[in-house]
Amino acid sequence: MKFSLVAETLKFMEGTTKRLELTKYLVDLFKITPPEIISHVVYLLQGKLRPDHEGIEMGIAEKIAIKAISKSAGVPIKKIQQEYNKLGDFGQAASKILEQKTQTTFLTQDITVERVYDTLYKIAELKGARSQDMKMKYISSLLNDATPIEAGFILKIITNSLRLGIADFTILDSLAIAFTGTKENRGMLEHAYNVSSDLGKVASAVAKNGIEAIKNFQVAVFSPVRPMLAERVKSPQEAHEKMGAEFAAEYKLDGERVQVHLQGEKIILYSRSLENITNYYPDIVEKISRAINAKEVILEAEAVAINEDSGEFLAFQELMHRRRKYGVTKAVSQYPITVNFFDVMFVDSKSCLNLSYKERRKMLEKLVKEDTFAKLVPMIIVKNDNDVEDFLENAINAGCEGLMLKQLDGIYKAGARGSNWLKIKREYRNELGDSLDLVVIGAFYGRGRRTGKYGALLLGTYNNETDTFPSICKVGTGFTDESLDQFYQILSDKITIKKNPRIESGLEADVWFEPEVVIEIVASEITLSPIHKTAMDTIRKGSGLALRFPKFTGRIRLEKTPENATTDQEIISLYNGQKRAVQEEKKQNYL
Ligand code: AMP
Repeated sequence: MKFSLVAETLKFMEGTTKRLELTKYLVDLFKITPPEIISHVVYLLQGKLRPDHEGIEMGIAEKIAIKAISKSAGVPIKKIQQEYNKLGDFGQAASKILEQKTQTTFLTQDITVERVYDTLYKIAELKGARSQDMKMKYISSLLNDATPIEAGFILKIITNSLRLGIADFTILDSLAIAFTGTKENRGMLEHAYNVSSDLGKVASAVAKNGIEAIKNFQVAVFSPVRPMLAERVKSPQEAHEKMGAEFAAEYKLDGERVQVHLQGEKIILYSRSLENITNYYPDIVEKISRAINAKEVILEAEAVAINEDSGEFLAFQELMHRRRKYGVTKAVSQYPITVNFFDVMFVDSKSCLNLSYKERRKMLEKLVKEDTFAKLVPMIIVKNDNDVEDFLENAINAGCEGLMLKQLDGIYKAGARGSNWLKIKREYRNELGDSLDLVVIGAFYGRGRRTGKYGALLLGTYNNETDTFPSICKVGTGFTDESLDQFYQILSDKITIKKNPRIESGLEADVWFEPEVVIEIVASEITLSPIHKTAMDTIRKGSGLALRFPKFTGRIRLEKTPENATTDQEIISLYNGQKRAVQEEKKQNYL
């Protein structure tokens, strides 16, 4: 397949922010893509070569790409740099430079998707001291045969700056329309994606064998399952309203979620966002198999830092010391953990997702032989509000965030936030202290002491119906000088030239970001807002919801993807809960 067909689609897609139009371009492209290479096209559209959990990264620095352009176009590096500074878009700058060259040379051959993909794959696999030169040679060879537009997109892909703003949902919609004729089948494709976490694999199956192939998608070891999420509740009463009389309550530990895949000797650990985190937990790899009674399993656990002397749970931040390239071994002995299992997804070739919580917990209790390192998350069956209150008190005293409440007959809904699981934190019970996880979507430059840094961040919620990030507040308090520096650094490679189409905001930020970083915020109240877009038109026509007196808590939620952020729906229920509380208070005062 000619790469020009992909490049043309990318060009059209860059010109729009409307999801319907993006979908249409994708449908047209998918229909003309040979099924054997559709997975490659899907990965390239996302600027990837394989799904994230395989950890294959292109990792080309702009400096090398500029050298390659210079070599291919015979133009000095300085001139390329100037063009880049002027246009602010790496791909466009490259196209422009290479255009001047094509006017004087002949293109030797059509460049194909297969060649682009294979070359990029070879580049990603290159390691070692001499790899930079080889990488440059490969890139130059592609640039020599590509048209300027193609070259621009190839360079954007390899430098990780292709920012189309297409979400997984949009790709799933487009696949459903292209290969099953209707968007109605999106749900089935989504299920396949939820159990495989591999959009390319889903695309390839539906393109080759239609919807039947999708029905056969199964959970498998070393292919992470998209995790199930919980809705929040404020009180035991609300939990009882949602779940009925009897349900399970587990400690909600404040650590890192780890999906443990084990087959014989081989162990791979995935984070909540399905990144391969095996390297950070050599202690789990070393100790876990002796605690597990099966040859092939997928289990879920929370890894929690502990005080070895007292056995007390420590806060999540302690685990972050392990997030480093070198010196992990030292961090492992300095910051010991326990692994606390709470679910089972797969045992000896069989998926457990459709079993009830009760059945899964029973299996888990048989599978895990507890020792000083491997534990089962403490659980009780609760029958009334007092049980919940008491257990919550115990959990908080043990250093936990709160409780997870789980429906006894609920199945494991991969990739979904549903009312089969609820979470109750102590802070939710304090009217003014609700903590929210919000996505950083933009920033405003600071003044005074904050000159040269960001003075305030623009934050958004996640609307899971429209798959967008509407703005909910601007936050400028709660930051230390250190955290401001840290933000400036973290956010510098998330900057986008234009606002990502998934961001909805009535404010014009000084800088827009790719919606990727999630931070924790507390606020005093949720109010109606004519400016912010969260839950727009839901409570009142023409109004959204906003936070009053938002404050950064100091926690950057590294383990959360933007789609795990607080949703519009959650804000609406907090808003309604707050209204109810005010009415209650008025009634009390009146009486
Ligand atoms: P939150 O991050 O507030 O949405 O809460 C969900 C997270 O709580 C999960 O992703 C897990 O990392 C963590 N967690 C702690 N204890 C449990 C438990 N018993 N069951 C499920 N998740 C838990």
